[in-house]
Amino acid sequence: MNAYVASVIENVKRKHGSEPEFVQTVEEVLTSIAPMVDKHPEYEKVDLLNRMVEPERMFTFRVVWMDDGGNYHTNTGYRCQFNGAIGPYKGGLRFQKNVYPGIIKFLGFEQIFKNSLTGLPIGGGKGGSDFDPAGKSEGEIMRFCQSFMTALYRYIGPDIDVPAGDMGVGGREIGYLYGQYRRLKGTFENGVLTGKGFSYGGSLTRPEATGYGAMYYLQEVLAHEGEDVRGKTIACAGFGNVTWGICKKARDLGAKVVTLSGPDGYVYDPDGVSSSQEKIDYLVTMRNSGRNLVQDYADRFGVAFHPGEKPWGVKADVVMPSAMQNDVHMEHAKQIVENGVKYYIEVANMPTTNDALFYLMGQPGMIVAPSKAVNAGGVAVSALEMSQNSERLVWSAEEVDEKLKGIMKNIHKVSVEAAEEYGLGYNLVAGANLAGFKKVAEAMMEQGAF
Ligand code: GLU
Repeated sequence: MNAYVASVIENVKRKHGSEPEFVQTVEEVLTSIAPMVDKHPEYEKVDLLNRMVEPERMFTFRVVWMDDGGNYHTNTGYRCQFNGAIGPYKGGLRFQKNVYPGIIKFLGFEQIFKNSLTGLPIGGGKGGSDFDPAGKSEGEIMRFCQSFMTALYRYIGPDIDVPAGDMGVGGREIGYLYGQYRRLKGTFENGVLTGKGFSYGGSLTRPEATGYGAMYYLQEVLAHEGEDVRGKTIACAGFGNVTWGICKKARDLGAKVVTLSGPDGYVYDPDGVSSSQEKIDYLVTMRNSGRNLVQDYADRFGVAFHPGEKPWGVKADVVMPSAMQNDVHMEHAKQIVENGVKYYIEVANMPTTNDALFYLMGQPGMIVAPSKAVNAGGVAVSALEMSQNSERLVWSAEEVDEKLKGIMKNIHKVSVEAAEEYGLGYNLVAGANLAGFKKVAEAMMEQGAF
């Protein structure tokens, strides 16, 4: 390993020992791009990598809100404006009780390279709060979002930083956040947020974009191997927005999603969650119920529920971890290999621990695709939403979908080319990191010390 890369990883380990998720993503990305650093000694001369792992800016803020019973609550809000070299900071907001700086930083760091890979001019950012949306009333959610935006609004803007959704932040929350931004600024600057409702500037296909993009990327991988998506069984995780989009597109393409998971366990539906509109719609009902239990699906449709287990023991053609970070550990990776799975397609941000990821990548015949490429369709359509907002026009769903398809195809292509350039073969993980990194590095080199 390149000595400079190793020293930067050591620095990050020393400095961020209490933020293991951030250390994990830095190690994964920097290990991948080491061959590029070998070829570019000028990076070390300007200490590019230590700059890359240091957010341009990161801040916390106080978010106070009142519950329906009149009790006050105080949460911490975060925004990390990680890297703005290629465009305004762009990335979602996560509202989840386990949110702390290590989560925000890992997501922000991933976002830099993901956004670069889309080929669109967006920098990397992320934010959120340790607010737990589970069981909160409509009024409580609205008041929390208003208070959150009251603290954040002066630090964001269509050319500065453009937040969007992530876990716990969907169309409803974006609506409340935007309403408060508009009230405070007194201008209709809807390019400040993406994932908006269609009536006030949201893009058609944005809700589906992450799941659709993941399926388009899978199609590229399968085409590379001379296979077709039709008839393939897919093991998914979670039951949120991303999994919902995957199910919709899987149905259209003739593939079958056979598992979902939640904090309570997983369900196995041999006919496919994607087999009927009613089942697909039920994912939205489950999410909106705020119960966060996947058992509800099993009860509703009479399929098997496996309490306390993850779906990685199920035999499927394709495994798509689409729930959350570090969902697949070494023991699961071994199970996946034993099951003879050929396609391991990450979807959630960093769903695999590094040891499991490197183990899977080392299996002959196994194809591993990284989340920062596979799930980039979501933020790509967010960037298309920004374009529509700035031009004050609306593209049809077909136009957006066509563009999304082209973007996913290109992400696969540039990843393949980057890996080949470094003699790594069909290595989609290294390829995505190399291709994403290259553009940001070039921009930073040209912009001088910053
Ligand atoms: N949170 C999503 C992601 O991880 C979407 C970000 C966005 O649309 O800005 O990429």
